[in-house]
Amino acid sequence: AQRIQNQTFISSSTLESYYQISSPRKANATFVFLCRNSDIKGVVTSIQQIEDRFNKKFKYPWVLLNDEPFTEDFVSRVKVLTDAPMSFGVIPREHWVQPDWIDEQQAAQSRMRMTWQGIIYAGSVSYRNMCRFNSGFFFKHELLLPYKYYWRIEPDVKYFCDLDYDPFMYMQTFNKTYGFTITMPEFAGTITTLWDTVKEFVESNPQYVAEDNALGFISEDGGNTYNLCHYWSNFEIADMDFWRSEAYSKFFDLLESKGGFYYERWGDAPVHSIAASLFLSKDQLHFFRDIGYRHEPNQHCPQGEDWSKGRCACDPKENFDFTGDSCTRQWDRIFL
Ligand code: GDP
Ligand code: MN
Repeated sequence: AQRIQNQTFISSSTLESYYQISSPRKANATFVFLCRNSDIKGVVTSIQQIEDRFNKKFKYPWVLLNDEPFTEDFVSRVKVLTDAPMSFGVIPREHWVQPDWIDEQQAAQSRMRMTWQGIIYAGSVSYRNMCRFNSGFFFKHELLLPYKYYWRIEPDVKYFCDLDYDPFMYMQTFNKTYGFTITMPEFAGTITTLWDTVKEFVESNPQYVAEDNALGFISEDGGNTYNLCHYWSNFEIADMDFWRSEAYSKFFDLLESKGGFYYERWGDAPVHSIAASLFLSKDQLHFFRDIGYRHEPNQHCPQGEDWSKGRCACDPKENFDFTGDSCTRQWDRIFL
């Protein structure tokens, strides 16, 4: 029995080192998936598609994060989907909950006012926790500290196409920092004072503004006002070292000090997008036109050769880029 057990042990570790050598995983990168135990159904379908369309060949690891411990049932339902490394983390309380110094009366009043205005998630504190966590904290989680690049995944999303190359290596090779698939305007009522705060930051820290930036994507008037355009952040392939940089840390600290994540409902999408558009040169941003992606109720379906090469399971005519609500026009404009 000893001998057999020993042999079994040796052969499985040999198999593991074989995987390490033969795996095409090359970049220092991981998937990041923030979710709740109750999201399990949509978590499974999202991971299954990514594995089938991409990761079964590349074996990039998965990091799942939650503000409470994942249940055994959740972990087993997810682990069965792949042999890529998977880890499950709990978010430290101070990275999640509404800070004590926030005036709860003022926050509650604004939640009520926004509810009357019919703003989505207006009354939700947990949604605000999530937005603040994604804006300023996820990349500080101990499970993510070893990694540079990440690909953000959400429950119930669709990946329509095969991806035969490694987008992380694409980012690394071409010096890209932030990648997206869908752009759109934010609801103005969620970020009433955000742009004033951005202007305050830029006035006192002009050194962080990149020379060849993408201000033209987020403003129609040279920075006087925000046009509300943002990269839809439920999809992100990006470099966490940017969020860890001095520029972004100081930027986030100022936003945090205003309390706007709770007194308003600042989203991680406009926060990330504004920072990426100002502090990076536009060449560091990348539109993944070849990635077919849907997060209800919008989708990006690749066109032409991207569509056929990717064997995409979407109608190329159904493409948010073509609608009046897309900010693709503002994006294309900055490269003219
Ligand atoms: P939407 O895409 O803006 O409609 O927001 P979602 O409900 O999809 O939330 C965005 C992401 O954060 C998803 O991956 C959710 O699973 C996750 N999320 C939202 N709220 C919570 C929460 O209270 N706890 C945890 N652990 N995850 C959350
Ligand atoms: Mn979502």
